[in-house]
Amino acid sequence: MAYYIDLSPCDYFDVPEQVVRGGAKPRAIPAIKWAHRLRAVGWLDDTHPFTRGKMPAAVRAKLGDLSRDPWEPCHPLGWHTCELCSSAEQESGPRGIKNIFVPGDGFLYVAPEMILHYIERHDYLPPPEFCDAVSACPQPGSRSYLETVRAIVPPEVFQVFGEDSLRLRSRGTLMRIALNVSGVLFLLVGCVWFLQGINILPGSFMTGQTKWAVYGGLLLVAGIGLLISANRRRI
Ligand SMILES: [Zn+2]
Repeated sequence: MAYYIDLSPCDYFDVPEQVVRGGAKPRAIPAIKWAHRLRAVGWLDDTHPFTRGKMPAAVRAKLGDLSRDPWEPCHPLGWHTCELCSSAEQESGPRGIKNIFVPGDGFLYVAPEMILHYIERHDYLPPPEFCDAVSACPQPGSRSYLETVRAIVPPEVFQVFGEDSLRLRSRGTLMRIALNVSGVLFLLVGCVWFLQGINILPGSFMTGQTKWAVYGGLLLVAGIGLLISANRRRI
């Protein structure tokens, strides 16, 4: 993974001038240099020292929320792995591909999603101004977040990458809501069926029927699975 000193300009998302072929006609893409609008946080490797300490739990939790379905213009160069873990751990260790963009004062902090692993596993402590920005950051996909990002990100970034990521993020949020609602419904219905099946809840043709206890149990398991998949962290 690329290494950047914390709070230094991040040119990881710069795009060289190029011509894209493969469509009906070649498309020229202008160079995009916007490192001055991005400040790196948490781009660690195994050769440079980094600050250690305990990040406040509330900020860590908020960063986890921001990482679930972050806005980002693109995934430029593939997966990140952890160089701080032992080589044996790296084999099956965490990997991250997404990046978290947190609005600062006229720029965006950008952190790889691996930052959560660095914080939890290696006691990495991000700069205090980044922690403050995380605490104040609106949810990605909210009108407030997108308006802030749009005011900072050069328009050519949207011209080249499109705004699909904004729409994808919205769909991701809707999907998570749908999974959560379905999971809770499954739990409620599963609970009722189970209690009727084991003859605790009277008044139904299902009461005392063992098979409904089994159906209820299966529904409970499915509901828990849906809730876990909707809310789990990706690292
Ligand atoms: Zn590690």
